[in-house]
Amino acid sequence: MKSSEIRERFLSFFEKNGHTRIDSSSLVPVNDPTLLFTNAGMNQFKEVFLGLDVRDYNRATTSQRCVRAGGKHNDLENVGYTARHHTFFEMLGNFSFGDYFKEDAIRYAWTFLTEELGLPKDRLWVTVHYEDKEAEDIWLNKMGIDPNRFSRMGDKDNFWMMGDTGPCGPCSEIFYDHGPEVAGGPPGSEGDDLDRYIEIWNLVFMQFDQQPDGSRVNLPKPSVDTGMGLERLSAVLQHVHSNYEIDLFQALIKAAAKVTGASNLEDKSLRVIADHIRSAAFLVVDGVMPSNEGRGYVLRRIIRRAIRHGHKVGQKGVFFYQLVDALVAEMGQPYPELARLAEQVKKVLRQEEEQFAKTLDNGMRLLTEVIEGLEGQVIPGETVFKLYDTYGFPLDLTADIAREHDLIIDEDGFNKSMERQRKLSQESSDFSMKIEQVIDFGSKTEFSGYEVLSDDAVVAALLDG
Ligand code: ATP
Ligand code: MG
Ligand code: MG
Ligand code: MG
Repeated sequence: MKSSEIRERFLSFFEKNGHTRIDSSSLVPVNDPTLLFTNAGMNQFKEVFLGLDVRDYNRATTSQRCVRAGGKHNDLENVGYTARHHTFFEMLGNFSFGDYFKEDAIRYAWTFLTEELGLPKDRLWVTVHYEDKEAEDIWLNKMGIDPNRFSRMGDKDNFWMMGDTGPCGPCSEIFYDHGPEVAGGPPGSEGDDLDRYIEIWNLVFMQFDQQPDGSRVNLPKPSVDTGMGLERLSAVLQHVHSNYEIDLFQALIKAAAKVTGASNLEDKSLRVIADHIRSAAFLVVDGVMPSNEGRGYVLRRIIRRAIRHGHKVGQKGVFFYQLVDALVAEMGQPYPELARLAEQVKKVLRQEEEQFAKTLDNGMRLLTEVIEGLEGQVIPGETVFKLYDTYGFPLDLTADIAREHDLIIDEDGFNKSMERQRKLSQESSDFSMKIEQVIDFGSKTEFSGYEVLSDDAVVAALLDG
């Protein structure tokens, strides 16, 4: 079953069960400064859960585009290392706004997986929050699941929070066992962070609204929020272990091989590129532009990481933007806005790529030399700073390269260099303020030449001298 069919099966199953199908919202949360990017299906319903917004439906179902590359949920460092994490993914969800609660939520999920999709029960594993006796009773006694494939977990895994504040609650999760050929243990045992038992579905029982001071108040009505990764479910249904082996990713990986000239389709770099084209393109579609701060800087970091992986497999020219067509072929139908804005997206990506291409090669040469001559495991802060300042390497980009060599970066040293730079430019801007005052006291027209002395020029002059 192709990913697009699976998405449709999910949405129509819940529609059939009284849920209203709602479009995915933007990756840039509307009216929510507490959230960097949309990271779950429930985000667009936050106000509804809080009782601050009332809709003409109390059950909804969505396939929500999500980005987890910063903020509370950040999977950027997992991409290329696990079988199950992306920076961009689609979360399938069903929601009850004060309508049904635990029992129906559990029944829907179990019915969808085992009857609608026909997954074997002996491949599934269920967890609950250790304090949630109600959910435990429903699973063991009403659904009759095998107690040998059931575990009770703590807050870290089974208490869901969107961010530091907002709706939250205990959850119950469903895992799929990819079999003994894969390393890893069941939830709650050693090795449960490996990829044998992969979490596919999280059922959150929304009961509280977390306040800025950490206290929790009860929501007006207990509600349900669930999230299942479309790519993880596709891997299960397509009988492959890794998300990167599903139809959609294979198409993107082949396209990435073509534009980079890489021949090994198993290469980790191709997976990273295939992942990053999705987050980069969809962020641009949703109005984010590469920049030096906030959301734009996350986008810039994603693009630069992708370009560096292209460079690593031997592509020294611009290539990344060319993947937009392959992405449109895979995802343009469910996301018509992507198809509509494809040319603009290419332009933005290409511009960013051309800019970074100017310094990437030289930066890589410097870093390679430093790594080759390195004694010990730590790349010095000054090098990391120089790469950042002169060659446009974000900190995490250098850290990513370091990790490939089993090295780490000296982050403290980097911060010190950064601070030194900041002080210098502070002093120099005090200095240029003084110049301006001189200009003010003197004849403005005669001294206008000083005005071209930008902060940067002053810093450069100071550093030189
Ligand atoms: P994991 O423990 O594997 O990191 P999670 O507990 O952080 O997942 P949730 O926050 O519970 O994930 O999100 C609900 C569902 O969304 C998960 O069960 C999973 O199917 C999917 N999901 C979460 N993060 C990612 C990701 N980075 N890439 C792909 N799918 C994801
Ligand atoms: Mg996670
Ligand atoms: Mg988890
Ligand atoms: Mg989870």
